[in-house]
Amino acid sequence: MAIIVQKYGGTSVGNIDRIKIVAEKIAKRIEIGEKIAVVVSAMGDTTDELLEMAFKINTNPKKRELDMLLSTGEQISISLLAMALQKLGFTAHAFTGAQAGIITNNMHSKAKIFKVESKRIKEVLNRGEIAIIAGFQGINEKEDITTLGRGGSDITAVALTASLNADICEIYTDVEGVFTADPRIVKNARLIDEISYEEMSEMASAGAKVMHPRSIDYANRHGIIIKVSSSFTWNRGTTIKRREEKKMEKIEVAGVTYDKNVAKVIIKGVPDKPGIAYTLFEALAEHEIPIDMIIQSANRFGINDIAFTVSESDLKDAIKITKNVSEKMGAEGVEYEIEIGKISIVGSGITQDPHIPARMFGALAIEGINIDMISTSGLRISCLIDERFIEKAVNMLHEEFLT
Ligand code: ASP
Ligand code: MG
Repeated sequence: MAIIVQKYGGTSVGNIDRIKIVAEKIAKRIEIGEKIAVVVSAMGDTTDELLEMAFKINTNPKKRELDMLLSTGEQISISLLAMALQKLGFTAHAFTGAQAGIITNNMHSKAKIFKVESKRIKEVLNRGEIAIIAGFQGINEKEDITTLGRGGSDITAVALTASLNADICEIYTDVEGVFTADPRIVKNARLIDEISYEEMSEMASAGAKVMHPRSIDYANRHGIIIKVSSSFTWNRGTTIKRREEKKMEKIEVAGVTYDKNVAKVIIKGVPDKPGIAYTLFEALAEHEIPIDMIIQSANRFGINDIAFTVSESDLKDAIKITKNVSEKMGAEGVEYEIEIGKISIVGSGITQDPHIPARMFGALAIEGINIDMISTSGLRISCLIDERFIEKAVNMLHEEFLT
């Protein structure tokens, strides 16, 4: 009997009617004999509203209490969805992250799952009943509630799929699937039928908001097949899975993405000697601040500038840490910029073809768009540009590579 993990995002359970529709969809799957575990996000903008309330009381709340607060959003949606299923005559049980055995480390607000003890969920499914699990939350070894970071319900869903050894992880959201570019910006963007973990991971970390990047990496490690589709149209969507060898030979751009939630930090005039980059990035790592692009300028008279990008939500912490490091090593000072954004092209092997970066920079040059920083990985080329030109740049690049 197939075991399915489904995940419904915030918009999919955004109001009572939506919750009833979701319950009916789940009911149909149970009726054909499938075993269903359902992970849900908080309803609509609940998480944002909870955050807003917290910051009205204290602009610097302790992350432990913030997690305690934010985790309540998902508790509302799991209970209501379970009730909707009960009303339809099914036996459904709601579980918090802790009750579902989602065990995390202690990093409040961006905790990592290190174990899923899904025995209780398994028992429910084996009885032919429905398990509804709160996404985005877990419990640490001190038995404190933790959260996995914004958008973290995707990670819960994938981790649970692995633990239950389920057949597929179905992600239901407010978009049709993964597109070659954001369809709100690019008119002729196309839905991608199938995409590899690697490409999806790059797309997600480059700004395609469909799924949390960490959930894709988790799925890749466990070989979990993910299907992303819309809970509004219920169309076929996009499948994320291992790419067959044959296809891998072909070098092509799979998608264009952008991210406006980027900030740049520059530490000026640092001494050019071993250990400087280590000291800085070690300090940032200690605070779990992910760094994206890094540029160290050429040495002039024994000093360098180092610039790096972080997400805007990490900027405050990143500046504090960098200033601290700057003082210790006698650098000139720290500056930052937020009116910038990142555009990326993603596709397996694209950096092996020298024409692809050349075409990318050429397309930007024609529009007179200046490139501030460039970074590449095996599957991605990203440029940091003025935030005002993002829409135009995404369209140009989609035109160049995907139409
Ligand atoms: N409710 C959480 C958020 O808004 C988690 C999620 O939706 O995945 O970030
Ligand atoms: Mg999401």
